[in-house]
Amino acid sequence: MAFAHEFSWSTSRAGTFAACRRRYYHDYYSSWNGWSKEAAPERQQAYMLKKMTRMPQLAGTVLHEALAEYFDRHSEGQEMTADEVLELACSALREGYRESRAGAWRQRPAKYCHLAEHHYEEVCIDESGSNAAEYGKLFIERLRRSVDCFFSAPEMHAAREATAAEMLSVEGRPPGDRANRGFATIQMAETKVFAIPDFAHRNSEQGQPQHVIYDWKTGNPREQDEFQLGVYVFFAMEKWGAKPEDVLAVDAYLTRGEFKSLRFSSERMAGIRDRLEGSLAEMRSLHFDADESMGDPEDFPLIADSGAAECTGCNYRELCGR
Ligand code: SF4
Repeated sequence: MAFAHEFSWSTSRAGTFAACRRRYYHDYYSSWNGWSKEAAPERQQAYMLKKMTRMPQLAGTVLHEALAEYFDRHSEGQEMTADEVLELACSALREGYRESRAGAWRQRPAKYCHLAEHHYEEVCIDESGSNAAEYGKLFIERLRRSVDCFFSAPEMHAAREATAAEMLSVEGRPPGDRANRGFATIQMAETKVFAIPDFAHRNSEQGQPQHVIYDWKTGNPREQDEFQLGVYVFFAMEKWGAKPEDVLAVDAYLTRGEFKSLRFSSERMAGIRDRLEGSLAEMRSLHFDADESMGDPEDFPLIADSGAAECTGCNYRELCGR
């Protein structure tokens, strides 16, 4: 079955749109259909580059997957220790690194891990000396700190101990329903919006029922984090009929051991909606059907400064000559 190219919105899509229009073009337009053997070579190349990741993102992904497994098993009455969660995450990280180095992604870019560090032969993964080992240790340490925090922080107690009946969602689907991971969307301004909290449970605070939603973070706090939590509150409102004031939204900076808990009033949610709809309208004004054409890349300019920090780790450096 062929997929139709359709417009959708997510905070990460909006972030890419704000950071670099050309990257946005490659992520959502030029790479479209690039998974097909019949696609034009430039589409296939953009798709292969789009599917690349970097070690910081890979570390975040394997941590998310290991925590989802913790919650799935917990909901099934099986407990995982901190060591088991850490081992699951570290094994997946090492496997991803080995897979990328072996290069099977050349045949199946969507199936096998492909690190930008390998693709661009970055000095940090040079295995002739100690660079690669030192670089890998950074992310193992990041995972260790995150798992420690998850298992020891008092702020995580209610999530860790949530019963199956209290759990609302693991990566946007019911706990234990591993086959459906990550496809939950909501509808806003007649557009499909991807807004999936990493974990959510129900509990009561001083007798007041509430929905608690979490976003696991392995990086540093960013300006858009609070906006992203607000979008997740819309998810809670649509999926569970929650009132905004009954939702506690938590940014869990697990690697840093920091937590930011927020409640959004109805007025604040109106501001979040305005920002989302403004972003959506701006993106929609440049939208075209990528099934029909490649569009005009000039409508999506490169960052003017060729030495911009955004370009340094960008997947599309070879397409931009940077
Ligand atoms: S290399 Fe720079 S200009 Fe090109 S897509 Fe990436 S961020 Fe944008």
